[in-house]
Amino acid sequence: RRRRPPAASPGPGATKDGHPVPLLANIGGPQDVRAALEAGAEGIGLYRTEFLFLDRADPPSQAEQQAAYRAVLEAFPQGRVVVRTLDAGADKPLGFLPPPGDEPNPALGERGLRMLRRHPQVLEAQLGALARAAAGLSARLEVMAPMVTDAEEARAFAAACTAAGIEHAGVMVEVPAAALRAGDLAAEVEFLSIGTNDLAQYTCAADRQLGALAHLQDPWQPAVLDLVALTAAAAADAGRGCGVCGEAAADPLLACVLVGLGVTSLSMSASALPAVRAALARHTLAECRSAAAAARAARSAGRARAAARAHLPAPV
Ligand code: PEP
Ligand code: MG
Repeated sequence: RRRRPPAASPGPGATKDGHPVPLLANIGGPQDVRAALEAGAEGIGLYRTEFLFLDRADPPSQAEQQAAYRAVLEAFPQGRVVVRTLDAGADKPLGFLPPPGDEPNPALGERGLRMLRRHPQVLEAQLGALARAAAGLSARLEVMAPMVTDAEEARAFAAACTAAGIEHAGVMVEVPAAALRAGDLAAEVEFLSIGTNDLAQYTCAADRQLGALAHLQDPWQPAVLDLVALTAAAAADAGRGCGVCGEAAADPLLACVLVGLGVTSLSMSASALPAVRAALARHTLAECRSAAAAARAARSAGRARAAARAHLPAPV
């Protein structure tokens, strides 16, 4: 079978008045790269690496990790590739590490960076494999930690990256404490990336696994919008980029609002990229800002969404 030639790239993401908003893809491994390229992703904004580690009795070898990272880096010679270090915990237990003990509340337990700091050999091995994977390639490797709470954690992660030879370190903002003190975090690392799935869960104290709480587990909650605005403003003050890589970025209307709140890049599943690109292209930055202000002024998630829609002149 002949391969279809790749479609012409749709060009970089931007608002109607040309304010650039890099549009990146969320992936779980090299198998997702093709869809990201076909959708015109400018890079990878979230490479979830847990799939390399879960459901196995032994940790992945350095060679196996390196190959999985390199395959993605090679696909974006001119782009950013943001790799997230292992985000495991009692909810996603690893076969080769002792469970963190009896955790009645895994979402509030030793997950993400907390777990990696208790098992530094796992973090060092991953960072080492990443540094070697990027060696000699032109892609820009950026590495970020999940579930960061305070500046001390951000500083420790940045130091581990530097020790491994990784130049660009960042942290995810998915804990309300991190959003409230985003300026402290931005002083320690090069970029912030807001994980709206967990940020909504923790802000609204609504377990993201519970369908019955979906109305509270909603990034349109004005409290979540406030925390996004606070984080983006603190990042801007520090001269740092602030992306969103949670599901919120995949909603075209909310994507416009996030840009209006000051977010500098958006990362989403490849299938969402065309609609988000089109929605941004139909609205100016000023229109996005006015929709964002209207959404924040609302008193419920539903009203925030309705207010944003009413403030955007073109259909989304
Ligand atoms: C998030 O929490 O928004 C996020 C992007 O990470 P994950 O969904 O993998 O927890
Ligand atoms: Mg998360």
